[in-house]
Amino acid sequence: MSVSAKIIDRINECEEATNGEKKPFISLEYFPPRSDEGLKNLNKRMERMRTSIEPLFSDITWGAGGSTADLTMRITKHMHETGHTTNMHLTCTNMEKDGDPKKAVYDALQECHAAGVRNIVALRGDPAEGQEEWKATEGGFSCALDLVKYIRENFGNDFGISVAGYPEGHPNAISKIENDQTLTPAEQNRCCVIDGLTYACLDADYEKELDYLKQKIDAGADFIITQMFFDADTFIAFVKDCRRKGINCPIVPGLMCINNYGGFKKMTGFCKTRVPKELAAKMDTFKDTKDDPAVKQFGIDFGIEISKKLVDSGLVPGLHFYTLNLEFVVNGILNGLGLFSKVDENADADEKTMQAVGSAWARVGDTVKSDHGVGVLKEVRADGTAVIEMNEESADGMKIVEVKKGSYNKC
Ligand code: FAD
Repeated sequence: MSVSAKIIDRINECEEATNGEKKPFISLEYFPPRSDEGLKNLNKRMERMRTSIEPLFSDITWGAGGSTADLTMRITKHMHETGHTTNMHLTCTNMEKDGDPKKAVYDALQECHAAGVRNIVALRGDPAEGQEEWKATEGGFSCALDLVKYIRENFGNDFGISVAGYPEGHPNAISKIENDQTLTPAEQNRCCVIDGLTYACLDADYEKELDYLKQKIDAGADFIITQMFFDADTFIAFVKDCRRKGINCPIVPGLMCINNYGGFKKMTGFCKTRVPKELAAKMDTFKDTKDDPAVKQFGIDFGIEISKKLVDSGLVPGLHFYTLNLEFVVNGILNGLGLFSKVDENADADEKTMQAVGSAWARVGDTVKSDHGVGVLKEVRADGTAVIEMNEESADGMKIVEVKKGSYNKC
């Protein structure tokens, strides 16, 4: 059995090798696909990207609500066996087993350890299906900090650990702003506008977020991978703020590849992501088209521009791409940065097979279907009741309907 290097050691080696030169390392992130065909295609893609891009490490996500635990583990082992330095995501959601609220986490870590996998992204996770707020199980983990501590307590320094960082603040710490004239310059640099409403992580909440992030690092995490962002200045301010707080570890920017209009709108709405005005206006030009090649070409141009700005800032050791299990846009960006030579126009021909397992259930912002017709999920109440805004008035003349948990599906 081969034992993986720890990513932090590879990052440090990289920095020594480049001797201050601005050549970033590349890392790539994938998710477990829903079908067998998707999995087959993903395996081929990961192998192509491993050999052509030579990423420093490759991430595989842990499906929302622990929905992909077995599959993530299978893919993790496959990645490790086929030569990836694998960074497995692990969340605390739904990890009870045999009556023990932590057993599934322990077992997953033990299985990784036995397979020679030595890198974990320690996460709290998003709420489980049908819940809007994250709830800890009694006696279980309450946040990612608990998980970092648990890994260090039970496995010493055997695992390299990374954690999530949020340049705009975690969505839980982002609030609706009634009067955006009251925002400080720093808050303006983090705020976003969704459906005409302004949201921001206020300075006081942002400071708490940074203090908490520092706790995750002080508890033993080696480095930070950030949430996606589309404004390089927001990331740059975040890195400087982290340094001010004494967070001195590498901070790797998470770059979401823009592949299509629908996915972009959904993700930015769900995560309350800041979208600079020019980017929002450009994306709106794709609203009524199914012109994916044009969106992807724009995704490449935008990716090159933001990557250059980040590298030029001298603040990033590498670039982490949320590939969405596709490669055309990633390859195009790397080509534009002079890091990749040949881009195959048909590289994403299998795109339709790349649906995520966790996307099987609906979250706020998704289009859903119920007995009343099709609409957008606006809210999920504590008892699981869904509030849906109908695309067209329902047969009984209602624009907003409430339906019970389990009686609606994602379209
Ligand atoms: P935490 O670090 O625990 O923080 C969550 C929020 O709670 C923050 O606002 C934090 O400040 C607050 N908080 C928690 N505990 C405390 C405390 N003790 N004191 C003060 N504040 C506290 N989700 C998945 O389901 N699967 C994945 O594979 C996955 N991968 C991700 C990878 C990256 C790089 C990122 C950025 C996110 C990923 N997510 C994933 C999403 C993530 O699970 C959610 O954003 C989740 O809501 C928070 O996870 P976390 O680890 O950041 O939580």
